[in-house]
This record gives sequence, C-alpha cells and structure tokens, in this order.
Amino acid sequence: MPKIKKRILTGDRPTGSLHLGHYVGSLKNRVKLQDEYESYIIIADVQALTTHWEKGESLYDSVMQITSDYLAAGLDPNKATIFIQSMIPEIHELTMYFSMFTSVNVLRHNPTIKTEAAQHGFKDMTYGFLGYPVSQAADITIFKADLVPVGEDQIPHIEFTRKIVRRFNELYAPVLVEPEIIVGEIPRLIGLDGQAKMSKSLNNAIFLADPPEVVNQKVWNAVTDPARIRKNDPGHPEVCTVFTYHQVFNSAEVPEIEQDCRQGNIGCVACKKNLASKINELLAPMHERRKNYSISDIKDILKTGTAKAHEVAIETMQEVREAMKIDYFKQ
Ligand code: ATP
Ligand code: MG
Repeated sequence: MPKIKKRILTGDRPTGSLHLGHYVGSLKNRVKLQDEYESYIIIADVQALTTHWEKGESLYDSVMQITSDYLAAGLDPNKATIFIQSMIPEIHELTMYFSMFTSVNVLRHNPTIKTEAAQHGFKDMTYGFLGYPVSQAADITIFKADLVPVGEDQIPHIEFTRKIVRRFNELYAPVLVEPEIIVGEIPRLIGLDGQAKMSKSLNNAIFLADPPEVVNQKVWNAVTDPARIRKNDPGHPEVCTVFTYHQVFNSAEVPEIEQDCRQGNIGCVACKKNLASKINELLAPMHERRKNYSISDIKDILKTGTAKAHEVAIETMQEVREAMKIDYFKQ
C-alpha cells in the first residue's frame, strides 16, 4: 500500500486498563495527530506476555478494555488502524531477523529494561523479556513509521530501533525507515504513591474508565506534603503529588494554588476536591463516548484494523526478504 500521508506507530501492552499517564504521555498526541498522519495503533499482546506469561486468560479482557479506552479517549477507527500484534505473523518473522544482529549486552544495558526488570523482581530475565525492544523495533519498522508518540520511558527503545534500521539498511538494502520520537507534553506522569511513574502494574493509577466517585477516593488518598499536618501549616508544593497533578490537569489555577499552599491559606482537603473535579471534567466526555461501542463493535474494529495492518506488514516483509536475499523462489 503506497504511503499517502506520513505514518505513526504506537500502542500499549494489554496488561490492564489505560490511565491518565497514558493519556498525557502518548494517547492525547495520538488523538491530535490522527488527522494528519496515517496512524497504526498496536495492542502489543505478545509484549504483554513478556511479563504476564502465566496470565494468558486475562489478555482477552485487557484487549477489549484497551480498545474501549482508545475509543473513549477519541481515537476514531475510521482514521486510526487499531490492531493486535500476535495476529500479524510477519512481525514475529522480522523480530527473528533483527535478533540475528542484536547484541545481548546492548539489551542488558538498556535503562528501561533495567528499571522494569527491577520493578517486576526479575533476577534472571527471560529471553523474551530481554528481547522485547527487538520485537518493538519490528512493530515500528514493519509499518515504516515516521513518528512514534510515546512516553519518556520509551526513548531508549526508539533510539534502539533507529540503530537497528541503520544497521539493517547498511547490511542489506535501504528498505526501512528511521522513526522520530515525539513524547507527550507530560512525558512521565508520577503515580498516586508519589514514588514511581503511574503504571498499570504498580497499583498507583487513575484509570480513564474510573467513575467520579472512584476518582474522588483515589485523589483523597494521594500522597501530599508530609510536613503539612494542620490546615494552616505552610505547604511545599514541590514535594506534593496533588500539586503535580494540578500542574497537569488544572494549569490555569496553578499560580494561585501554589501561593495559597505555601502560605497555608488552602487546606489539602479543598485542594484535593478541586483536583478531583478537574480530572472528572476531563474524563466525562470519555465516559460518554465509551457508551457508543458494544463488545461486538469493538471486535469488528479490531478485525478490520488487524486485516489492514496485515496487508502493510506483508508488503514490507516481501521487501525485507528480497533485501536479505532469502526470497529463494524469486531468484
Ligand atoms: P505496564 O506496567 O504493563 O508496563 P505501563 O503503564 O507502563 O504498563 P505501557 O503499555 O508499557 O504502560 O506503555 C504504553 C505507553 O504509555 C508508552 O508510550 C509509555 O511511554 C506511555 N506511558 C505509560 N505510563 C506513563 C506515564 N506514567 N507517564 C507518561 N507516559 C506513560
Ligand atoms: Mg510499561
């Protein structure tokens, strides 16, 4: 399929529902760019297995949930192609070829791999987990993506993809495209615990599907400045997770909130209520859009998207095999 517009490739692991970190880190950009770019959104179920290999039965629910989150956030299936990674065998084939010239040491020293291995408590990493940036490089390059909208944690992986492309093109033929990275306006949103990035797997997230009462409860429990005990104590917004969220979801009121907090003029209770209402305002139109799609609509969207993505992948793989001189019956 000839490229009419420039292409985007991005996606998520179906390991749970999408949260505000995904939205500000990547999803918001995808929605904004879907008119301008030909967009491919991958539901990376094989990559989910790198950490969740024993939980295959939960993949179905997560795939349905994530697709529903995409549609709620404003991805339009008539513009963006949403597809399932495992159903495109050519991606796995390309991963295998890339792995032939990928150094194990380079993967071991990748900072995101190190952080995630520690988070998951892996002492001895599996072959699949260590190699997931290789599979990600195949996801991106099989679509000849020009742009990859992702959060900050993905930067080392996209750099790695660029190196793979240069190496492949130099070794065989200039078939693949070096992608550019675009990180969201908030490249790494902190979790409700104030400790690590907001993450599906760390139990520190506000999900896009959370109803108002759940959002209120989660914001109520969010970590604030530990030095503030009484309402009138002067606060330290720089160490307060709730203040960080005001900067993201309520930027207009930030100067006022910062001053009132430092002077002890606003208590944490009022400050949290205000934040929760701003987050609920952001999520309200998403709850409305979500209602438009049934499970069977979601399945149809995934089937159509996967078939379209498959066609593109088949074409690129033909070029790859030709470049590598492994298209035996054509020679
Ligand atoms: P898991 O814990 O299962 O790895 P995750 O929450 O890290 O889940 P991913 O599916 O790994 O989510 O990431 C999907 C996309 O969302 C990536 O582009 C990633 O950079 C971005 N992203 C994830 N969490 C955040 C966050 N807290 N802030 C900004 N971007 C994020
Ligand atoms: Mg992750």
